[in-house]
Amino acid sequence: MNMIHHSQPTITAQDFRAIGACLKSGWLVQGKYVRQFEQTLSRYVSTKDAVATNSGTSALHLALLALGVKKGDEVILPSYLCTSVLNAVNYVGAKPVIVDINNDDFNISLTATRRKLTRRTKAIIIVHQFGFPTDIKPFLRLGVPVIEDCAQAIGAKYKGRRVGSLGTLAIYSFYATKMLATGYGGMVSSNNRGLINKIRDLRDFDERDDYITRYNYQMSDLVAAMGVTQLKRLNEFVRRRQHIARIYDNALKGVSCQLPKISKGTSPAFFRYVIQISGSINTFIKSMLRKGIEVKRPIYKPLHQYLDLNKASFPVTEKAYGSAISLPIYPTLTEAKAQYVARCVRDILS
Ligand SMILES: *Cc1c(COP(=O)(O)O)cnc(C)c1O
Repeated sequence: MNMIHHSQPTITAQDFRAIGACLKSGWLVQGKYVRQFEQTLSRYVSTKDAVATNSGTSALHLALLALGVKKGDEVILPSYLCTSVLNAVNYVGAKPVIVDINNDDFNISLTATRRKLTRRTKAIIIVHQFGFPTDIKPFLRLGVPVIEDCAQAIGAKYKGRRVGSLGTLAIYSFYATKMLATGYGGMVSSNNRGLINKIRDLRDFDERDDYITRYNYQMSDLVAAMGVTQLKRLNEFVRRRQHIARIYDNALKGVSCQLPKISKGTSPAFFRYVIQISGSINTFIKSMLRKGIEVKRPIYKPLHQYLDLNKASFPVTEKAYGSAISLPIYPTLTEAKAQYVARCVRDILS
């Protein structure tokens, strides 16, 4: 049986050509392709500039360093999240302050964030979870720098603007399964040139007159060459994901599960199509596997559980963790396969 995988990159002849051209140039390390990728991405999200890195995690690390976040400072982030973001906060020695999420969109709760604000809060990390934009405007009024985590959301829109240009800084990931995939890779974008210059300075280390601790977080030109061509096709990828989401929406109407909700004024990138079921998640995963379909918990384990925080403070995250299932969604998933996935979900849940 041909497995339907949970996620898959979209690799075409354009990627082969782009990497081939880079190889032919004989230049493998950070060079003109990296600069081109930075410029086209910053133009795409409408920011002044961007700096490429070797991962989304290192992009977050440098974003926090550029904001001057250090030991004794606090950084607010949501619990329903992968550990990469928590790691970046720990790299700079700051205290992670974990908060609950919203019921509707799995994004960070404004009320919970307000409650945890102190004089020591130096940054808030807003994750556009599963490609669904956070209602970010009220967060921007809290008087604390906001880092937009667009690792899953590049191409999504909030009030007509692409995510990534709203916060103080934004970070991206080009990991193999993300919206735009190069294997590994990341980027920071911002309208603040001072911050961008600081990040550019911290990203590599060679041939400097002064010495401070710097980081070898550079992207190779091979990766950037693929990034440039992937970015050209990103809008097409997003449209295709939205199309599959509509197929699921229609085919799963009336099935006893909670479908994704689109908040007013947003256009999600549909990095994930997450449904919430009432029965056992593990049983559901096994039943789908028997039908040749790979579905997943979208978050392996919430951060408050890793940190042994009181579960009572994270009711919405707990509920999401106990009920959320991510269905296959990616540009190369055919309509027939999406219909088959929906049919299997319907059969199992009815
Ligand atoms: C993938 C991801 C990251 C980390 O990116 P890497 O490139 O894997 O280091 C950070 N935040 C979110 C929300 C992610 O999905």
